Amino acid sequence: MVTVSSWGRLEQAEHHVQSLTHRDEVADVIRQSRPGLAHGMGRSYGDECLNPGGTLWLTAGLDRFIRFNEETGCLLCESGVLLRDIQRLAVPRGWILPVTPGTQLVTVGGAIANDVHGKNHHAYGSFADHVRHMTLLRTDGDMIECGPSQHPEWFAATVGGLGLTGFILTAEIQLRRVSGPWLQAETIPYRNLHEFFTLADASEADWEHTVSWVDCISSGGGRGLFMRANYSGPSGAAAPAAANISMPCVPPFSLVNPWTLKVFNAAYFNVRKRLAGQEDLHYERFFYPLDNITGWNRMYGPKGFYQYQCLVPRADGQQAIQAMLHEISRTGDGSFLAVLKTFGSRASLGMLGFPQPGVTLALDFPNQGGRSLTLFERLDAIVREAGGRVYLAKDARISRDFFEASYSRLAEFLPYRDPGITSAMSRRLMGS
Ligand SMILES: Cc1cc2nc3c(=O)[nH]c(=O)nc-3n(C[C@H](O)[C@H](O)[C@H](O)COP(=O)(O)OP(=O)(O)OC[C@H]3O[C@@H](n4cnc5c(N)ncnc54)[C@H](O)[C@@H]3O)c2cc1C
Repeated sequence: MVTVSSWGRLEQAEHHVQSLTHRDEVADVIRQSRPGLAHGMGRSYGDECLNPGGTLWLTAGLDRFIRFNEETGCLLCESGVLLRDIQRLAVPRGWILPVTPGTQLVTVGGAIANDVHGKNHHAYGSFADHVRHMTLLRTDGDMIECGPSQHPEWFAATVGGLGLTGFILTAEIQLRRVSGPWLQAETIPYRNLHEFFTLADASEADWEHTVSWVDCISSGGGRGLFMRANYSGPSGAAAPAAANISMPCVPPFSLVNPWTLKVFNAAYFNVRKRLAGQEDLHYERFFYPLDNITGWNRMYGPKGFYQYQCLVPRADGQQAIQAMLHEISRTGDGSFLAVLKTFGSRASLGMLGFPQPGVTLALDFPNQGGRSLTLFERLDAIVREAGGRVYLAKDARISRDFFEASYSRLAEFLPYRDPGITSAMSRRLMGS
């Protein structure tokens, strides 16, 4: 048995693990060791990539590129390939992933199973919008070839399907042309949520990437820094040096607490406000700033942390986000990493996919047991009232009732489940 935890480090659970290294062996391994669950880089925060007491099929060894057409930008690869390796293969050849999350240390399988989104949802949708084809292996040995126009029902169940419909063996992804690794970025301070929404509305037509850091702790709530960026031509700046900062151990208590937060957030806002303006940023610095700090998740101490990410429809978005920030600032708990972002008009192709039109707020909270759970219940109530949902890639605790109410395509999804696959999350939210 091996101890495995997810990114939030809330639970250190014992698992049987099976490391997969060759495509040809996967069908036999998953048939013989079912029920189990595919596990990529464990960058999901909660219980979705865990199967305590059961089997995990580790995909890190399925990391081969199979075919890359430099003319069309179409890439066929195994599901354990890291987004980082795709970027490093493709960018020097004039191609890039159209959609990428805030870390490149995730696998293609994990990115599909959560239908991850990036900072350009309003322009490029989510990851699945760029998947042309997948090979899905069921634990009974069936192999299903699917894509947007081939067995589209299997495709819709599997993208955003939390790894529960089968094992994704390979995927074909359409990359997009890019002029080089540089983006021209602009940072604009804003004083309140009204200004945030005005900036978002004014930027989406001309800027591919938009995102903002929001100060969740300042009184009144809602000031922040809005960032927008477009790919640009070559830059005179040097590419960033390789990562060299690391959090070497788990401190005995969380380094994130009401005192450090208040000081950090005020300092961050004021320093960045003074430096606001335009700058050239390499794509790795722009998209993946946290990847430079190895093991940053340890700073929350031995009890780990929760990420709360929700999405609320745009109509009531400002009111709902304001109410959430008010609740958070009242408790004094909260996050250095508070991200606010609008989504465009495309809903996820996936039956359980998270993205849909609206505005999303994501915050990290140190695990303070019942106190944290009480706060999350208040936030859930606001999200539910606004007709929103919580992102399952980040979740470890929403109720089954809230899940069923907010993921309205659940009944359509359930028939596609593979009975040989189970996770801590599926047991919590679906009963098996
Ligand atoms: C710093 C940071 C920033 C992030 N930013 C974003 C963001 O901006 N946007 C966003 O959407 N997400 C974001 N995430 C979440 C992350 O992108 C997702 O959780 C992603 O799915 C993790 O991929 P993984 O390879 O680690 O998969 P895991 O976490 O190991 O697994 C995730 C799911 O994928 C399934 N899975 C993995 N491989 C396969 C396979 N071969 N076949 C079938 N199922 C499979 C697993 O069973 C599980 O259900 C962020 C995470 C971190 C740590």
